[in-house]
Formats: sequence, structure tokens, C-alpha cells
Amino acid sequence: MDLPTIEAVVTAHSRDDLRGMTQGDGIVAGGTWLFSEQQNHLTRLVDLTTMGWTPLTVTTGDAEGLEIAATCTIDQLISYEYPREWVATTLFRQCAESLLASFKVWKAATVGGNICMGLPAGSMISLTAALDATLLIWCPDGSERTSSVLDFVVGDNRTTLRSGEVLRSIHIPAAALRSRAVLRRVSLAPLGRSGSLVIARVTASGPQICVSGATDRPYIFPASMSLYEAIPEAAWYTDAHGAADWRRSVTALLVEESLAEIGSPT
Ligand SMILES: Cc1cc2nc3c(=O)[nH]c(=O)nc-3n(C[C@H](O)[C@H](O)[C@H](O)COP(=O)(O)OP(=O)(O)OC[C@H]3O[C@@H](n4cnc5c(N)ncnc54)[C@H](O)[C@@H]3O)c2cc1C
Repeated sequence: MDLPTIEAVVTAHSRDDLRGMTQGDGIVAGGTWLFSEQQNHLTRLVDLTTMGWTPLTVTTGDAEGLEIAATCTIDQLISYEYPREWVATTLFRQCAESLLASFKVWKAATVGGNICMGLPAGSMISLTAALDATLLIWCPDGSERTSSVLDFVVGDNRTTLRSGEVLRSIHIPAAALRSRAVLRRVSLAPLGRSGSLVIARVTASGPQICVSGATDRPYIFPASMSLYEAIPEAAWYTDAHGAADWRRSVTALLVEESLAEIGSPT
């Protein structure tokens, strides 16, 4: 879609190009959402894809794990060869396939863009939340901050990203990548948007559940806790892709199934 209010496009090459952004500046990554709607509040676009960030880096030492650049596309994420012992990487493709977006959109849509959208059906949010990822955020004054995914996505299309801030990267610890995890998902139509997406994972402190898709933001809780204790009533939401009561019922079933599969029946 044409964005007729845009007067300038900046192709960013260094952090200096990202300084001093205002409310009128729109950050573009894959552009799959940004160019799909009117953006009449924007007068300038800042393209992040020209920053030249390495999409995926296997990190070692204290920060052993995987660093995903915010501009890494969903296609790049699922096409990489990961260490064999990182068994949880099987979730990457499952989460990509949980997007309503087709494989054509995967080639442009970025992991960072999906997280910054903060949509309940944002399966890169589900993935990174379930795998204990830490987000690195560049602030407009040159400083940086980190956040968990749970603290970052606070509601339907609501994040704690402030004006001028840029999500730089996502770090998943190796311990989470090595853990056994199971994904269960349901939608009203066979290829429809996720009505509920559950990831059960074996952690050092026992099995852990991540519920998303059915709720306004992801919820993580130990398997010893019931759905009713862990998720407030108001968090289940209704839209064209499912009613709140249906979402809650199917989620209970998905939790049960996924726990049974990782060998920890409720
Ligand atoms: C057919 C189709 C189906 C879709 N299905 C789904 C779906 O099932 N679930 C879903 O969640 N989304 C869906 N989307 C929406 C969108 O495509 C995805 O969320 C996608 O991952 C967004 O990534 P992007 O790189 O294209 O982001 P963009 O469109 O470039 O940006 C999205 C938003 O995030 C901001 N942003 C992007 N990167 C950064 C960054 N690094 N730092 C700060 N701000 C940033 C942008 O300013 C913008 O506000 C769909 C879109 C299409 C076209």
C-alpha cells in the first residue's frame, strides 16, 4: 500500500542513523505489516534491514546460546543448521507454520518485527517467551536495556517499546535450546490464525507451560499450577478467530496433551 504522508526514507547503516527518532518516524523491518495499513501519523521511514546485522550467531561462554538479530527473517531462522543437541529448535519451524502468513511472507517478515507487533498470534513471541529469551533494546540516547519477552509484550498489540527505541536482538540461552519441548496449537480453520498455542518444556525446575494465541499476551507457569490459577479471566480474548470460552477450553486440552507428550501428565 502507498504511504502518501512519507516525505523521506532513511536506509540505516549505523547506530547514528537511529538516533533522535520521533513519533513521526516509522521503523521498517520486513514491512509486511507496516505497508499493509495506512500510517498517516508517519512522515519518515527508517529501514533497519540495511544495518547489516548477522541474522544468527551461535554464542559461547557465559552467554552460550543463540543470538537472533531483530532483522533475521523467519525464513532464515528456520533454514539454519543448529547444533544437534539443541532439540528445542524443532519449535522454530512449528512456530513459523503457526503464523497465518504464508512461506512467501516468511522471506520478508522478521523475528523482531513479529515481536514488536505484540499480537496474540505472534508466534515468534510464543517461541521466544517459551525459550526464556532476553531482548536487547537500543534506546534513542545511545544507551541500551534488556527485557524478558513477558515484560515486553504486555497486551494485545501493546509492548513496552518506547518512542525511538529499536529492538536490536533476541538471545536464547543454550540451556533452553537443549531442553525438550512440545508445541500444540489449534485454530478454527485448518490454515487459520492460532486460536491457542501451547508450548510445554522441561526446565531445571520442572515442566513449564507457555500459553499464547488464546490470551492477550503470553503466560508462563509451572505445570503444577492450574490454568485457572495462572491466567486471569480477563486475559482470554474473543475475536473472529475464536471466542474466549472456546479458547480457554481448548487450551486446557492442549496443556494436558503437551504435558503427557513430554512425560509429565497433569
Ligand atoms: C498475510 C499475512 C499474514 C500475517 N499473519 C500474522 C500472524 O499470524 N501473526 C502475526 O503476529 N502477524 C501476522 N502478520 C503480520 C506481520 O506480517 C508479522 O507480524 C511480521 O512478523 C512482522 O514483521 P515485519 O518484519 O514485516 O515487521 P514490519 O511490518 O516491518 O514492522 C512491524 C512493526 O514493528 C516495528 N518494528 C519492526 N522491527 C522493529 C525493531 N527491530 N525495533 C523496533 N520496532 C520494530 C515497526 O515499526 C512496525 O510498527 C501477517 C501479515 C500478513 C501480510
